[in-house]
Parts: sequence; C-alpha cells; structure tokens
Amino acid sequence: MSTSIIDPLNKEQKEAVSAPLSNILVIAGAGTGKTRVLVSRIAWLLQVEMLLPREVLAVTFTNKAAREMRERIELIMGHSVDGLWANTFHSFSLRILRNYAKQAGLLPDFTVLDTDNQKKLIKRILKEELNVDIKKYEPGMIADLISDFKENGLRFAAVASLAENINQKADPVLLKAYESYEKTCQRENLVDFSELILRVVELLQNNVGVRELLQHRFKQILVDEFQDTNALQFKLLKLLVGPDTDIMAVGDDDQSIYGWRGADSGNMQKFCDEFAPVTKIKLIENYRSRQNILDLANVLIAHNSERLVLKELHGNRGRGGPVEIRSFANAHAEAEGIRRIIRILKNNGVQYKEIAVLYRNNRQSSLIETELGNYGIPYVVLGGMRFYDREEILNALAYAKVIINQNDDTSLLRIINVPSRKIGPAVIRELSAVAKERGISLYAALKEVYKYVEIDKKTDNKALVKLAKKISEFYSLIENLKKQKDNDLQDFMKNLIEQTGLREYYQLKDEKEQNKFKDNMREENLLELVNNAHIFNKSYERMFADVNEEEAQISPLTAFISNITLIGSGEMDEKGSTDEIDEGAVRLMTIHSAKGLEFNVVIVAGMEKNILPSVRSEKNKDEERRLAYVAITRAKEKLVLTYAMKRYNFAQELETTGASPFIEEIISGFDDELKALPYKYVNNQNML
Ligand code: ATP
Ligand code: MG
Repeated sequence: MSTSIIDPLNKEQKEAVSAPLSNILVIAGAGTGKTRVLVSRIAWLLQVEMLLPREVLAVTFTNKAAREMRERIELIMGHSVDGLWANTFHSFSLRILRNYAKQAGLLPDFTVLDTDNQKKLIKRILKEELNVDIKKYEPGMIADLISDFKENGLRFAAVASLAENINQKADPVLLKAYESYEKTCQRENLVDFSELILRVVELLQNNVGVRELLQHRFKQILVDEFQDTNALQFKLLKLLVGPDTDIMAVGDDDQSIYGWRGADSGNMQKFCDEFAPVTKIKLIENYRSRQNILDLANVLIAHNSERLVLKELHGNRGRGGPVEIRSFANAHAEAEGIRRIIRILKNNGVQYKEIAVLYRNNRQSSLIETELGNYGIPYVVLGGMRFYDREEILNALAYAKVIINQNDDTSLLRIINVPSRKIGPAVIRELSAVAKERGISLYAALKEVYKYVEIDKKTDNKALVKLAKKISEFYSLIENLKKQKDNDLQDFMKNLIEQTGLREYYQLKDEKEQNKFKDNMREENLLELVNNAHIFNKSYERMFADVNEEEAQISPLTAFISNITLIGSGEMDEKGSTDEIDEGAVRLMTIHSAKGLEFNVVIVAGMEKNILPSVRSEKNKDEERRLAYVAITRAKEKLVLTYAMKRYNFAQELETTGASPFIEEIISGFDDELKALPYKYVNNQNML
C-alpha cells in the first residue's frame, strides 16, 4: 500500500515523502511537484507512520487549495480522512478561537469582520467620533495600516508607546482611529482577519495550557506556499511546534508575490535557523510545462538579483510550440485578439475550461469580458467580484450576524434600513444617543426603546414613544428571526431572505435595471446563498466529526456564517460563487489568484510598461518580475503574451504604452540567430 504512495514519484520527491519524521524544507521551482509532495507526505504519515488524521495540520494559501488537498489525500488513501485539519492560516485561527473564545478574551459567538464592514466601521469612527474628513483619511488606507500593525504584532498600546519612545510624531488621527477601532471591535465582539491570527498568537503566548495541548495534538504540521508567509504567521507556526512536533514547509522564493502585504520569503532562511536541524530537499524536474515555456521563465527570473536559491526549470515534456508574443494597436484590439485566439483554439479542439486569461489588475478584465460576452464565449471571472463580496450577500449575512451576535453594531447599521423602513439618519442618531447614554449596544438600545410601544399611554416621554414606533417593525423582525435560529439551516436562511424583505427588494431592483447591461442576478444570488447553506449543512457533521471535549460545539448557523465570511474576503483568492465553477468556460483571473494552479493554455494580457511592472511598484520591480514568472509558469502546453500600444488610464485618457520591460528582457535573452527560438513575435498592430 505504502509503495503506491511513492511509486509515481521521482527520486527527490520520494526522498521528501518518505523522509524520517523530522523538520523538512523543500525549496523548488514552479511545477516541480511541491504540492504533490506535500499531499503524498500526508498520506504517508497516515499510512506508514500511523499518525491519526487529527494529529496532522496542513496549511495552504486558499480555502479552495485546502479542500483540494483533502480530496487528493482521500483519493490516494481510498477513504475519507475525517479529523484531518486542512486549513488556511485564517480558517485555522478561526477554529482555534471558536474553541478557546473565553481564553482568548472573546464571547463565543464573536463575528468575523469582513473587509467591507471593516471599512464601514472605520468610516463610522472617523465621522462620528473623530470628526475628520474621510477624503483626507481614507477608511481603506486606515484599514490597511491597522492590518500592517497587527501583522507586526503591534496593538494600539504598543504603537502608541513606540511612537513616544522614538520621539516620532505619529499622526494623532491615525493613532486615535486605531485606538477607537480596537475598542469598538472588542465591545461589538468583532474579529477582523489579521486579528484572527494575532489573537491566536497571543493566546498561545499567554496560555501555557492551551499551547501545550495544541503542541501535543498536532504532531505534524505541513505548510504549502511557504514563501508567502508573513512574520505573524511564522510566529504562529513557531508557537504550534512543540517538542514532539515536526514541521514541513514547501515553497519557491521565485514565486513570492505577497511582499506588499508583509509576506517575506526570508522566512525560508529563518525556517532553517529556528527549526534546526532541517532536512533540505530540492526538486529538480518540472512536470508541468513545455520546455519553450520554461526557457522563457528561466531567462526572465535570472534578472532578479536577490534569489535565495538559483534554480533552472527543466522538464521532460518536449519543446512544444513557440511561445507567442503579440502586440496590438490598443487595448480594445488586444481584447479582440484574445477572443480570436480563443475561438481558433476552440475550433482546434481545445476546451474552454483549459484556457486561462491572466492579468495584473482586476480592472483589466472588463474589456476582455465585454468582448467574450459579445461573441458568446462562455467565461468565468475568478477572484474578481466575488460572490461573497456582493452587496446583496453581505446584507443577508449582516442580518444573520445580528441574529447571532447582538453586540455587532456594525452589521446592525448595515441593514437596519435595508430594505427601506424609514429608519433614516435622524432615527439612527436618536437611537445611538440612547445607546451611548446607557452604555449599551444599539440592539440593546432598540430593546429598551421598544418597551415604549407598550407603555405608550402611561408615559410622557413622547420622544421615545415616537422613536419606538419607528423601530418596532425592525425590532420585531429580528426578535422573530432570533426564535428561528436553531431551525434547519437552509430553512432558516430561506426565511431570513423572505422575512427581511431582501429577496423581494432585490427582485424588484433586478427587474428595474434589466436593460442596463448589469448582471441582474441579485435575487438569484440570494437563492444561491440558501443553496449554499444546504450544502454546508450536509458537510457540517463531517467537518466536526472529530469534535471532542477540548472543542466547543457551535451552532450550524454560526459555523456557516463565519466560514463564508472567511472564504469571502479574507482569502484573497477564493473563487466563484460555489465550488462548482462553470466547467465549460474560459477562466479569467488576476495573476495573484492563479498561484499554484495550472492550465493547458495561458494568455497573459497587458504585458505592458505601467501594468506589469505596475506603475506603483517602482521600488519593487523584482516582485513584479516574480509575478510575471508565476503567470508564465502556469502554462502547460501553450503560452501567449499580449500587449497594447495604447490604453486608457485611470483618468480615462488614452495613453501610449507598449511592451513591458520584461518582454524586452525575455527577447534579449535569446540570440535571434538561433534556429529554434522558444518564442515568436507577432505584430497584430494592423489587425482590423
Ligand atoms: P507551483 O510552484 O506552481 O505551486 P508545484 O511545485 O506545487 O507548483 P505541483 O502542482 O505539485 O507543482 O505539480 C505540477 C504538475 O506536475 C501537476 O500536474 C502534478 O500532478 C505533476 N507532477 C508532479 N510530480 C509528478 C511526477 N512525479 N510524475 C508525474 N507528474 C507529476
Ligand atoms: Mg504548488
């Protein structure tokens, strides 16, 4: 049985998979089988080393990757592996915090704050508490700053004393915003994405009992895409690794593309220092791509000066056709050209789902989408406007969050007047005044005020009676839904979108905007959410099959809501509305979202100066080059790089662009006298 795990592998892969229990670091280039080794190693640990699934923790970069990992292990093993933890850093932390909420200083039903609501909350603080101009202090910028602080383990108190110590004059508004944000989150029982990890780190640092318990539980920890871990995540791993724990990390410093968010490929060196002794293994052979594609990748990445390990990609799959480098007169023509290429491929028997169009920035997709849409070529945009980022979904979730956690003012404010119930800013101000005066949450204030509906005649507090009338419908609605929260999850969600009026509200909106070229699917999306609840409920029991004394039970509703908050925005790359993305459609996504994936055909659009490398990354050209490298190395059979000579910029002015310096680096890397160049240049600038 065990041989069937390592039989299909090459020598180095076998060595990594069957290594004695120890700390292992695999550094290897794209497509050399790192993820495959990680999956096989887990199967090996379970089957040969006889570990229990619950003793293994696998950490990946996206929820999708985590799910796939579990499926692949089950495929190798031939049976399910209930109890195995295959998580992202965020979903792992969420699970730990649910189990140890009290020890971590949280109420058990805390809510995960998604990025959209986080910005709303910061905006509220800036406007109402600090009275500052949100044009000058942009909530998104402050949210990023707070994440940065947290990812460096710095809470408000630490930042404040740091600023004092180095005699640095920190912007008082920013400091105040952080302080107030921290307080509000604690009061409303909200946990943002960086907070999830920071809380667990602090919990493990401060609570020896919990730390030892988890260190004892996880005998083997395995981390994929290690080059993109940040300092806080490294700290978390360090705290989880106890005297009996081994850790294996796989990664590729040439594919480190999250430096802008604090990721540090230097963690690979740090891994060797802090987890010594470490067995280091290199994988050499690329199994993914044709050699022409690899030649281009090699030439490009050689321009990076600070590489931890020099690696050349070599495969055994033959040269394949030349990589196409195509130039177009403008961005419209580029989109048109891409559509034509796809059509020709399709006519030659390539399926749509085998084709991916990758781009640097989300906004590049719209021209391509329009073009494909107009010509009836099916496509899906992955990681773009994500299902769980949609307004209608966020609103439905906000209702559910209020029902779970009544301290969550942020969610309450989001939906108190959606659909309209005539609860305008004036009513909210009055309500906030009550909350503030009594030091209670907005929902508690609603409850207090609601009492005046009944004591109408006996009181002279006419203002409160008036207010009570305005909010009574909303209060009764939530109270009524609260009573249903332990019903079957799907039924509950169905009732929620009906009774709140959301479904009808969006149905009407969809109808009104039918002809405006918008995707009027908002009602359908809400129904899809109900459907997702059904699917989640089915897998819920399995997910918690290993729940034991040390783990607290949470309700399916709470589990469902926090789970989707995570896959919605926290994991930057989670794709599509459900697991089943359209099989017969071309894939459109950013290069960041394509990490770890592979496709038969890859078209990289906008290989232009000011796009890739991005204008904003003057200092970070190496990271941009790695991004181009990631894009190129996604292709198995065919690679096309396109660029336009003109394109509208942010300000809607037509700008001259042209080939990316990376294209020039590639072209100058080969002697053009060479008989068989790995690329061919095609000038499409006169395309009609
Ligand atoms: P990336 O750096 O892009 O994440 P990776 O190193 O994780 O790549 P994998 O995705 O594990 O690489 O593997 C790339 C492809 O090569 C996959 O299709 C995988 O199934 C295949 N592959 C890996 N090892 C072997 C092997 N020994 N024999 C056949 N195919 C293999
Ligand atoms: Mg991989």
